[in-house]
Amino acid sequence: MMKIDVVTLFPEMFDGPLGHSIVKRAIEKDIVEVNKVNFRQFGKGKHQVVDDTPYGGGAGMLLKPEPLFEAMDSINERDPETKKRVILMDPAGKPFNQAMAEDFSEEEHLVFLCGHYEGYDERIRSLVTDEVSLGDYVLTGGELAAMVMIDATVRLLPEVLGNASSAQTDSHSSGLLEHPHYTRPAEYKGMKVPEVLMNGNHGLIEAWRHEESLKRTFERRPDMLESYDLSDRDKSLIEK
Ligand code: SAM
Repeated sequence: MMKIDVVTLFPEMFDGPLGHSIVKRAIEKDIVEVNKVNFRQFGKGKHQVVDDTPYGGGAGMLLKPEPLFEAMDSINERDPETKKRVILMDPAGKPFNQAMAEDFSEEEHLVFLCGHYEGYDERIRSLVTDEVSLGDYVLTGGELAAMVMIDATVRLLPEVLGNASSAQTDSHSSGLLEHPHYTRPAEYKGMKVPEVLMNGNHGLIEAWRHEESLKRTFERRPDMLESYDLSDRDKSLIEK
Protein backbone atom coordinates (compact mmCIF):
# COMPACT_ATOMS: atom_id res chain seq x y z
CA MET A 1 0.00 0.00 0.00
CA MET A 2 1.26 3.48 -0.85
CA LYS A 3 1.36 5.99 2.00
CA ILE A 4 0.71 9.68 1.47
CA ASP A 5 1.04 12.42 4.08
CA VAL A 6 -0.14 15.95 3.48
CA VAL A 7 1.37 18.50 5.80
CA THR A 8 -1.04 21.43 5.82
CA LEU A 9 -2.75 24.13 7.87
CA PHE A 10 -6.08 23.25 6.21
CA PRO A 11 -6.57 19.46 6.38
CA GLU A 12 -10.35 19.75 5.88
CA MET A 13 -9.74 21.08 2.35
CA PHE A 14 -8.74 17.54 1.35
CA ASP A 15 -12.03 15.95 2.44
CA GLY A 16 -13.82 16.74 -0.84
CA PRO A 17 -11.29 15.49 -3.40
CA LEU A 18 -10.23 12.47 -1.32
CA GLY A 19 -13.80 11.60 -0.41
CA HIS A 20 -15.17 11.01 -3.90
CA SER A 21 -14.95 8.73 -6.88
CA ILE A 22 -11.74 6.95 -7.81
CA VAL A 23 -9.48 8.28 -5.04
CA LYS A 24 -12.10 7.44 -2.41
CA ARG A 25 -12.32 3.90 -3.76
CA ALA A 26 -8.53 3.54 -3.77
CA ILE A 27 -8.47 4.51 -0.08
CA GLU A 28 -11.32 2.13 0.73
CA LYS A 29 -9.57 -0.71 -1.10
CA ASP A 30 -6.36 -0.06 0.94
CA ILE A 31 -4.38 0.72 -2.20
CA VAL A 32 -3.37 4.04 -0.69
CA GLU A 33 -3.50 5.54 2.79
CA VAL A 34 -3.71 9.33 3.11
CA ASN A 35 -2.85 11.01 6.42
CA LYS A 36 -3.34 14.68 7.04
CA VAL A 37 -0.88 16.34 9.40
CA ASN A 38 -1.91 19.80 10.60
CA PHE A 39 1.37 21.52 11.42
CA ARG A 40 -0.49 24.14 13.49
CA GLN A 41 -0.12 21.58 16.33
CA PHE A 42 3.63 22.25 16.23
CA GLY A 43 3.14 26.05 16.31
CA LYS A 44 4.87 28.09 18.98
CA GLY A 45 3.31 29.42 22.20
CA LYS A 46 -0.25 29.65 23.39
CA HIS A 47 -1.45 30.72 19.94
CA GLN A 48 0.45 27.98 18.12
CA VAL A 49 2.12 30.49 15.81
CA VAL A 50 3.49 29.04 12.57
CA ASP A 51 4.53 32.25 10.76
CA ASP A 52 6.71 35.26 11.34
CA THR A 53 7.97 38.41 9.60
CA PRO A 54 10.93 38.13 7.20
CA TYR A 55 14.43 39.11 8.30
CA GLY A 56 15.47 42.16 6.31
CA GLY A 57 11.89 43.41 6.05
CA GLY A 58 9.41 43.18 3.21
CA ALA A 59 5.77 42.32 2.73
CA GLY A 60 3.99 39.25 4.05
CA MET A 61 4.62 36.52 6.59
CA LEU A 62 6.78 33.42 6.21
CA LEU A 63 6.29 29.91 7.54
CA LYS A 64 8.71 29.37 10.43
CA PRO A 65 11.04 26.38 10.17
CA GLU A 66 10.29 24.67 13.51
CA PRO A 67 6.64 23.59 12.95
CA LEU A 68 7.44 21.99 9.57
CA PHE A 69 10.60 20.29 10.87
CA GLU A 70 8.60 18.93 13.84
CA ALA A 71 5.81 17.77 11.53
CA MET A 72 8.40 15.83 9.50
CA ASP A 73 9.87 14.39 12.74
CA SER A 74 6.39 13.16 13.70
CA ILE A 75 5.99 11.42 10.32
CA ASN A 76 9.46 9.85 10.59
CA GLU A 77 8.70 8.65 14.12
CA ARG A 78 5.41 7.11 13.00
CA ASP A 79 6.91 5.51 9.89
CA PRO A 80 10.66 5.16 10.48
CA GLU A 81 11.16 2.45 7.85
CA THR A 82 9.53 3.88 4.74
CA LYS A 83 11.55 5.53 1.97
CA LYS A 84 10.05 8.98 1.68
CA ARG A 85 9.75 11.39 -1.22
CA VAL A 86 9.16 14.80 0.36
CA ILE A 87 7.57 17.19 -2.10
CA LEU A 88 7.42 20.94 -1.48
CA MET A 89 4.54 22.79 -3.13
CA ASP A 90 6.25 25.81 -4.63
CA PRO A 91 5.47 28.03 -7.65
CA ALA A 92 9.24 28.23 -8.17
CA GLY A 93 9.54 24.43 -8.39
CA LYS A 94 9.74 22.10 -11.38
CA PRO A 95 6.43 22.14 -13.30
CA PHE A 96 4.29 19.08 -12.56
CA ASN A 97 3.55 16.75 -15.48
CA GLN A 98 2.42 13.21 -16.27
CA ALA A 99 5.97 11.82 -16.16
CA MET A 100 6.28 13.12 -12.60
CA ALA A 101 2.94 11.54 -11.65
CA GLU A 102 4.23 8.23 -13.05
CA ASP A 103 7.44 8.63 -11.09
CA PHE A 104 5.55 9.42 -7.85
CA SER A 105 3.24 6.43 -8.40
CA GLU A 106 6.28 4.10 -8.06
CA GLU A 107 7.14 5.39 -4.58
CA GLU A 108 6.44 3.86 -1.20
CA HIS A 109 5.68 7.03 0.77
CA LEU A 110 4.95 10.55 -0.50
CA VAL A 111 4.88 13.59 1.77
CA PHE A 112 3.40 16.82 0.37
CA LEU A 113 4.34 20.04 2.18
CA CYS A 114 1.74 22.75 1.59
CA GLY A 115 2.86 26.34 2.07
CA HIS A 116 0.87 29.49 2.74
CA TYR A 117 1.36 33.24 3.17
CA GLU A 118 4.38 34.72 1.40
CA GLY A 119 6.28 31.43 1.40
CA TYR A 120 8.75 29.45 3.49
CA ASP A 121 11.82 30.08 5.57
CA GLU A 122 14.53 28.91 3.15
CA ARG A 123 15.83 26.27 5.61
CA ILE A 124 12.63 24.27 5.09
CA ARG A 125 14.02 23.27 1.68
CA SER A 126 16.61 21.08 3.44
CA LEU A 127 13.73 18.72 4.37
CA VAL A 128 12.61 18.03 0.83
CA THR A 129 13.58 15.80 -2.09
CA ASP A 130 11.51 17.64 -4.73
CA GLU A 131 10.22 21.18 -5.23
CA VAL A 132 7.22 21.10 -7.56
CA SER A 133 4.91 23.71 -9.08
CA LEU A 134 1.43 23.07 -10.41
CA GLY A 135 1.97 25.67 -13.12
CA ASP A 136 3.01 29.22 -13.83
CA TYR A 137 0.57 30.99 -11.54
CA VAL A 138 0.40 31.70 -7.83
CA LEU A 139 -2.17 30.01 -5.60
CA THR A 140 -2.97 31.14 -2.07
CA GLY A 141 -1.70 27.86 -0.65
CA GLY A 142 -0.21 24.52 -1.63
CA GLU A 143 -3.34 22.45 -0.89
CA LEU A 144 -4.95 22.67 -4.33
CA ALA A 145 -1.64 21.83 -5.98
CA ALA A 146 -1.13 18.81 -3.68
CA MET A 147 -4.68 17.58 -4.39
CA VAL A 148 -4.08 17.70 -8.13
CA MET A 149 -0.77 15.82 -7.76
CA ILE A 150 -2.33 13.21 -5.46
CA ASP A 151 -5.22 12.65 -7.87
CA ALA A 152 -2.94 12.30 -10.91
CA THR A 153 -0.66 9.92 -8.99
CA VAL A 154 -3.27 7.70 -7.30
CA ARG A 155 -5.13 6.93 -10.54
CA LEU A 156 -1.91 5.38 -11.87
CA LEU A 157 -1.55 2.89 -8.99
CA PRO A 158 -2.20 -0.73 -9.98
CA GLU A 159 -5.84 -1.81 -9.55
CA VAL A 160 -7.15 1.76 -9.18
CA LEU A 161 -8.62 2.22 -12.64
CA GLY A 162 -11.11 -0.38 -13.79
CA ASN A 163 -9.49 -0.71 -17.17
CA ALA A 164 -5.71 -0.82 -16.78
CA SER A 165 -5.07 0.16 -20.37
CA SER A 166 -7.00 3.41 -20.01
CA ALA A 167 -4.15 5.11 -18.12
CA GLN A 168 -1.61 4.04 -20.74
CA THR A 169 -3.52 5.60 -23.63
CA ASP A 170 -4.42 8.82 -21.80
CA SER A 171 -3.24 12.12 -23.20
CA HIS A 172 0.34 12.76 -21.99
CA SER A 173 0.98 9.10 -21.04
CA SER A 174 1.56 7.88 -24.58
CA GLY A 175 3.48 11.04 -25.53
CA LEU A 176 0.55 12.15 -27.72
CA LEU A 177 -2.82 13.74 -26.94
CA GLU A 178 -5.62 11.22 -26.92
CA HIS A 179 -7.71 10.61 -30.05
CA PRO A 180 -11.44 11.61 -30.18
CA HIS A 181 -14.01 9.25 -28.63
CA TYR A 182 -17.65 8.55 -29.50
CA THR A 183 -20.46 6.63 -27.84
CA ARG A 184 -24.10 5.98 -28.83
CA PRO A 185 -26.11 7.32 -30.64
CA ALA A 186 -24.43 6.85 -34.02
CA GLU A 187 -25.86 10.17 -35.18
CA TYR A 188 -26.81 13.15 -33.01
CA LYS A 189 -28.06 16.52 -34.27
CA GLY A 190 -26.65 15.67 -37.70
CA MET A 191 -23.20 14.82 -36.27
CA LYS A 192 -22.13 11.31 -37.28
CA VAL A 193 -19.73 8.88 -35.61
CA PRO A 194 -16.86 8.12 -38.04
CA GLU A 195 -17.69 5.01 -40.06
CA VAL A 196 -14.37 3.31 -39.25
CA LEU A 197 -15.27 3.03 -35.53
CA MET A 198 -18.40 1.04 -36.31
CA ASN A 199 -17.06 -1.56 -38.72
CA GLY A 200 -15.39 -3.81 -36.09
CA ASN A 201 -12.03 -3.88 -37.91
CA HIS A 202 -9.62 -3.42 -34.99
CA GLY A 203 -6.56 -2.88 -37.17
CA LEU A 204 -8.26 -0.02 -39.00
CA ILE A 205 -9.64 1.40 -35.75
CA GLU A 206 -6.17 1.45 -34.14
CA ALA A 207 -4.68 3.08 -37.25
CA TRP A 208 -7.43 5.75 -37.27
CA ARG A 209 -6.96 6.45 -33.55
CA HIS A 210 -3.22 6.80 -33.90
CA GLU A 211 -3.61 9.14 -36.86
CA GLU A 212 -6.16 11.29 -34.99
CA SER A 213 -3.89 11.43 -31.92
CA LEU A 214 -1.03 12.54 -34.07
CA LYS A 215 -3.17 15.14 -35.86
CA ARG A 216 -4.54 16.54 -32.60
CA THR A 217 -1.06 16.74 -31.05
CA PHE A 218 0.37 18.41 -34.16
CA GLU A 219 -2.43 20.99 -34.18
CA ARG A 220 -2.63 21.72 -30.46
CA ARG A 221 0.70 20.79 -28.88
CA PRO A 222 3.43 20.57 -31.55
CA ASP A 223 5.99 20.97 -28.73
CA MET A 224 5.11 17.42 -27.55
CA LEU A 225 6.23 15.95 -30.88
CA GLU A 226 9.81 17.07 -30.23
CA SER A 227 10.21 14.25 -27.70
CA TYR A 228 8.00 11.69 -29.51
CA ASP A 229 9.59 8.97 -31.60
CA LEU A 230 7.85 9.54 -34.96
CA SER A 231 7.78 6.63 -37.42
CA ASP A 232 8.33 7.29 -41.14
CA ARG A 233 4.59 6.89 -41.64
CA ASP A 234 3.89 9.41 -38.82
CA LYS A 235 6.23 11.89 -40.53
CA SER A 236 4.48 11.48 -43.86
CA LEU A 237 1.07 11.97 -42.17
CA ILE A 238 2.22 15.20 -40.53
CA GLU A 239 3.68 16.52 -43.79
CA LYS A 240 0.33 16.02 -45.55
N1 SAM B 1 5.75 34.39 -2.60
C1 SAM B 1 5.71 33.10 -3.21
C2 SAM B 1 6.42 33.17 -4.55
O1 SAM B 1 6.41 34.21 -5.18
O2 SAM B 1 6.98 32.11 -4.97
C3 SAM B 1 4.29 32.62 -3.39
C4 SAM B 1 3.66 32.18 -2.14
S1 SAM B 1 2.03 31.49 -2.36
C5 SAM B 1 1.01 32.86 -2.06
C6 SAM B 1 1.81 30.51 -0.95
C7 SAM B 1 2.07 29.03 -1.10
O3 SAM B 1 1.13 28.49 -2.01
C8 SAM B 1 3.41 28.62 -1.67
O4 SAM B 1 4.42 28.63 -0.68
C9 SAM B 1 3.13 27.22 -2.18
O5 SAM B 1 3.14 26.26 -1.15
C10 SAM B 1 1.69 27.38 -2.67
N2 SAM B 1 1.62 27.63 -4.12
C11 SAM B 1 1.28 28.78 -4.73
N3 SAM B 1 1.32 28.66 -6.07
C12 SAM B 1 1.69 27.39 -6.33
C13 SAM B 1 1.94 26.66 -7.52
N4 SAM B 1 1.80 27.20 -8.73
N5 SAM B 1 2.31 25.37 -7.41
C14 SAM B 1 2.48 24.79 -6.19
N6 SAM B 1 2.27 25.45 -5.02
C15 SAM B 1 1.89 26.73 -5.08
